[in-house]
Amino acid sequence: MTQNKCSRAGCGHQALKLVVWRNPKIHTDGRTKTWGACEEHESFLVDYLSQRGFFLRLESIEAKRD
Ligand SMILES: [Zn+2]
Repeated sequence: MTQNKCSRAGCGHQALKLVVWRNPKIHTDGRTKTWGACEEHESFLVDYLSQRGFFLRLESIEAKRD
């Protein structure tokens, strides 16, 4: 599934990045979750997840095209 929209509540902007994260309490089998992030909310979403220890990495959506 491709996420092209920003995951920030109330934001419908085009996502430029994928924020990859994992909640160790839920995703015990190594699965990860991804959120879309527009330029404006990229840092917000990374900070949000980092504070909870869930943040893994950022990926460029363009780089995932084939
Ligand atoms: Zn946004």
